[in-house]
Amino acid sequence: MSYNAAHLRRRNVRRVVEHLLYHQRASRAELSSKLRTAKPTISQIVSDLMDMQVVRELDINSDAVRTPGRPSTPVELDSELGRLILIQIGVNNTRIALSPARLDVDADWQAEFPTPDSTAKLVDHIFSELLKLDDEHAWGMVVSIPGVVDDEAGDVFFCPNLRWLNEEHLPTELRTKRDLPVLLIQEIRALALGEHLATGLDNFLHVDVDTGVGGAAIVKSKLYEAPGPLTIELGHNIVAGNDRPCGCGNTGCLETLIGKPGLLQSYADATNTNQPTWKQLTDSLQSSDTTPDWLHCTLVQASQIIGGAMNILGVNDIVITGLLNDWPKHILDDFASCIQNNCMAGQFGKITTTYAPRRRLLGMAAVGVDRVLIPHLTSNTD
Ligand SMILES: [Zn+2]
Repeated sequence: MSYNAAHLRRRNVRRVVEHLLYHQRASRAELSSKLRTAKPTISQIVSDLMDMQVVRELDINSDAVRTPGRPSTPVELDSELGRLILIQIGVNNTRIALSPARLDVDADWQAEFPTPDSTAKLVDHIFSELLKLDDEHAWGMVVSIPGVVDDEAGDVFFCPNLRWLNEEHLPTELRTKRDLPVLLIQEIRALALGEHLATGLDNFLHVDVDTGVGGAAIVKSKLYEAPGPLTIELGHNIVAGNDRPCGCGNTGCLETLIGKPGLLQSYADATNTNQPTWKQLTDSLQSSDTTPDWLHCTLVQASQIIGGAMNILGVNDIVITGLLNDWPKHILDDFASCIQNNCMAGQFGKITTTYAPRRRLLGMAAVGVDRVLIPHLTSNTD
């Protein structure tokens, strides 16, 4: 195949798989019309993808399909064979799941163990868990990291809570045990992609609050990309007057106020409570219908930084996941109105703040389809 023909074919394979990823199912005729590509071309690509067991025809006896004839028979991404090994390295636990090309929205993790304290132990643990899973059809691994990651180079750039992760090159260590492509992704970026895939929301800032504060954005249906690994950095913006030291080495970062340890510290200081738990803090918020002053101040400071990011991105929607979802509605509404007040677009229209569950697995699978599965398909179908 000539270079141009191979290039066109790779592009068409990518468009067919992406269309099925985001629209669930389509007939060959619909694919041809939506992708503005000739029917014979689409039919050949679908046929090749079926041979590779990545696409399958829906059962033509099902209620959804009544028109006979192949061109109108819907096809969808395969949901049986485990093509991607998804690994979430969390600060406390590491979790593993096998994902087919089409992952169910409600899919769950298949293995979990406490995150060890070295790369060698982590890799050993991962492979002993994989022995129990049917991973022989896997074409690659996607690893989510709670820190700053250079996903092109596979380097963990900054991971303050698991500092040992940047000592060895994790993809190399994983590939030593099994020769598969390994893709690292910053966990907040996977969350944003999962939200995009689950809801179809195509322009939004995603903020996740846990020990730290993560940010990512979907702009025009694509994950927002920066030239380097630092992108949509919210937690390490400095709040004037805040003298708390931060894990990044700086002083006064937003994360030291609205990350979990910072919130607990502020609550302890305001109420004279010795080492309060997260439940104590949440219960105390439930017991009143107004936001305590110390927390309102933090919500305003967070909104100023979040509003600035939204002004720059030009998005009117924000999705918040993580710990804050434990809080009562009046506090969440207060935070939403602070964001509205601190965003330029909020002066002209409505800013929509959505508190959502984390759709981590779905996002990791979407990254895997885009960066592992499609490259595998296009390198084998020339
Ligand atoms: Zn910092």
